[in-house]
Amino acid sequence: MNIRNINYANAMRAVPRLSAGQIIVVFLGFMALIPLLLPEFYVTLLNYVGLSALVVIGVVLLTGVGGLTSFGQAAFVGLGAYTTAYLSTGRPLPLQLAFISGSPWMALVIGLVLTAVIALILGSVSLKLSGHYLPLGTMVWGISLYFLFNNLEFLGAQVGISDIPPISIFGHDLLSNREYFYLVWLFVMVALFTTQNLLDSREGRAIRSLKGGMVMAEAMGVNTTRARMVIFIIAALHACAAGWLYAHLQHFVNATPFGLHIGIEYLFMAVVGGAGQVWGALIGAGVITFLKQWLQGVLPDLLGSAGNYEVIVFGVMMVIVLQRAKDGIWPLIVGLVPVRVALKKIDIDALPLPEKLQAPIGEVILEAREVTRKFGGLVANNKMSLQVSAGEILALVGPNGAGKSTMFNQLSGVDTPTSGQILFRGKSVTGQSSRAIAKMGMSRTFQHVRLLPRMTVLENVAIGAHMRGSKGVLSAAWRRDRNEEARLLREAAIHVEAVGLKEYMHEEAGNLALGQQRILEIARALCSDPCLLLLDEPAAGLRLKEKQALADLLRRLRSQGMAVLLVEHDMDFVMNLVDRVVVMEFGEKIAEGLPHEIQENPAVLEAYLGGV
Ligand code: ADP
Ligand code: MG
Repeated sequence: MNIRNINYANAMRAVPRLSAGQIIVVFLGFMALIPLLLPEFYVTLLNYVGLSALVVIGVVLLTGVGGLTSFGQAAFVGLGAYTTAYLSTGRPLPLQLAFISGSPWMALVIGLVLTAVIALILGSVSLKLSGHYLPLGTMVWGISLYFLFNNLEFLGAQVGISDIPPISIFGHDLLSNREYFYLVWLFVMVALFTTQNLLDSREGRAIRSLKGGMVMAEAMGVNTTRARMVIFIIAALHACAAGWLYAHLQHFVNATPFGLHIGIEYLFMAVVGGAGQVWGALIGAGVITFLKQWLQGVLPDLLGSAGNYEVIVFGVMMVIVLQRAKDGIWPLIVGLVPVRVALKKIDIDALPLPEKLQAPIGEVILEAREVTRKFGGLVANNKMSLQVSAGEILALVGPNGAGKSTMFNQLSGVDTPTSGQILFRGKSVTGQSSRAIAKMGMSRTFQHVRLLPRMTVLENVAIGAHMRGSKGVLSAAWRRDRNEEARLLREAAIHVEAVGLKEYMHEEAGNLALGQQRILEIARALCSDPCLLLLDEPAAGLRLKEKQALADLLRRLRSQGMAVLLVEHDMDFVMNLVDRVVVMEFGEKIAEGLPHEIQENPAVLEAYLGGV
């Protein structure tokens, strides 16, 4: 297949703009000069911006990208701060642990490990919660940790812990705010770099796919429980590192900065900056920190009495941002700066991914035996049996509400039959998860399209290749996954081209017409190297030309030995394409046979066409 001529017209048009790399170099140079040029006051303030930004980068990943709202991040900052406060102040420890006493760097390591363990425990309890219960759960442990800090005697209770020593680097103690500036912002830059890298990887796509719904992500082989846990722990580690820096910058900790209201402030920073954007974390942290500083000076004078009036202003701001600039400030800034967006490179010379052995044509791939699914009193599927073989297209048809989508859910492991058995490639898969079944080679599309509208077509399709890669979060964060990534993207590009979407390769999927989005889902399914495709109404919303192209594609797949099971309302499309038809009504199979037999079957005509 030729993917050499991918349309780079967009890139060519934008040539005189600055590249992201050039902008970053300018930014770094600027940052390096700040402590030398600005007064102490602003350097200190920027240190606090950096500390917040570090936490907020985690919040962006967790909430903005992963869709998990947490109000409790301040508690993890506290965990990092208190761990180092306790350990680095040289308190007497049991003999075996004496070596960790007095060293800030050792305390950082211990703090990170402790945070990971606590995040794992809290995550395994609260990440199971859905909807509003998750944010509420994070509030509960946010408050609990705060009260622990505030009441535990060995953590200084209300008084806190003072005389925390400075951090020393190669024997040099960081004593001034200007010196801390470089350390704080080094942490921020590393966090930005690794988070950006992570999001631009196989694991990153898995994390982003959480927003496309768990059913879709799992069907593509993503372990959504694990993906949620991973971002929860990463966000907690960022917060812990910020707490560590904070404690040594202040030389003192008490519980106040780790309360729930600060947790809300971090969330607010993420939203203001642009919750889905890693760089938005910097903007959000900067805007809110400076604004807070200014308001705290101005408002009490204006109103004539002391108080935290800035909270009211922030509340009003939040409402305005959510109404007027849902994506935060970052996209507005990007609009002003002439930055050249680099298109993803597709390396056609990358090693092809290994493929599963296709089943010989005619081998039974999928078999349902008397599958029954009851919803209370309603029997949505009643003793449904069917078979699909390699190199065959089977259509499942029937009036609305007949139970076709329910049957799809039973077959693909989204739901478990009340009774009956499902065999896939000769093995029983009844009751197995959709992820396990997907791994065995079943892939599907959805009646209601489920894709990531803000991701490009290429990246959306690459989600389908998730199971065919293995590089994890750490490899991705440090760019040790580029070989595999090139192979995955190559595979995705081949499927994008094969379904005829080549000219939209780098377009955001949300900009495509509905019909094209359906086609995209087919490419995504194919990218997983399946031997069975389940397509739920693939021709809905397609124009005649597109339907013909889809039929051609499915015929080609069939000739290569693919088994295809599709639900479809368009009878012309079905009858000219498929090998056999199964007709359902009221959850039961009322007919099965060749297309022309079905077209003349009196029971079908009665049920389906209302008795013509
Ligand atoms: P089709 O896809 O053929 O239009 P469905 O499989 O979506 O039909 O639905 C079959 C029947 O099962 C409908 O009456 C529907 O209301 C019911 N049904 C589907 N899913 C559920 C569920 N989760 N709970 C209760 N009833 C359901
Ligand atoms: Mg349906």
